[in-house]
Amino acid sequence: FLYFIGRNKGSVQTMGILQDKRLWGAVVGTVALFAAYRVWKSGKKGKKSHNTAKQGLDCVVISGPAGVGKGTIIDMLQKETPGKYAFSVSHATRQPREGEVDGVHYNFVSVEEFERMIAADEFVEYAKVHANYYGTSKAALKKVSAAGKIAIVEIDVKGAKIFKDRVLGQLKCCFFFFTAPSLEELHNRMRKRGKDSEESMTKRLETAKTELDFIKENPSVYDRVLTNDNLDA
Ligand code: 5GP
Repeated sequence: FLYFIGRNKGSVQTMGILQDKRLWGAVVGTVALFAAYRVWKSGKKGKKSHNTAKQGLDCVVISGPAGVGKGTIIDMLQKETPGKYAFSVSHATRQPREGEVDGVHYNFVSVEEFERMIAADEFVEYAKVHANYYGTSKAALKKVSAAGKIAIVEIDVKGAKIFKDRVLGQLKCCFFFFTAPSLEELHNRMRKRGKDSEESMTKRLETAKTELDFIKENPSVYDRVLTNDNLDA
């Protein structure tokens, strides 16, 4: 278009210009270019607002011993900010507890299936916790990301460390560790929850001790260590 104007500089024969095929070609070309620019720009705007909703955050990693109230905190987060977060559903080889739904709380799989997934490199991280396998699959994270939401990744401390190393520079994540005022308090909460046998509670309290030691030895894994001193507050 500019080329055409340059070539016709000084011309006052408007009608002559309008009859020139090259002018029409240039006008149509410019309009098409402008329309394409608007489409591209609106696409970019759409993407931008999508990121704004996530505020640049891809995931929130939450760890803490059994009975500390992670489930309550995750439920609150989702209720108070509807549509912003979605739970990344892990794979687990343990048996479902009463009320747990396959595909919602966990993807419950056999040890064989879990080991097949390990060999196929389908996990971002996995760990053996309380003698069972637990893992965050790449597919679970992709699902949350495709929905434009921030993933809530509830994993143990060893998994969190691996996760941090693997997503470094690729995803923006915040790491939180929740703890209780004491191990006795944790035991009380587990009893109150009533989901575990005495044997299972003992195992979980032992794991809690190792998790607290891990935090002391690896203070850089978590951005915040928070004490949940009042489960209902
Ligand atoms: P529970 O059997 O009580 O549901 O979970 C036991 C532990 O496994 C918890 O500490 C929980 O954070 C952890 N866990 C759950 N999902 C995952 C996962 O995908 N990866 C890892 N590493 N740990 C997980």
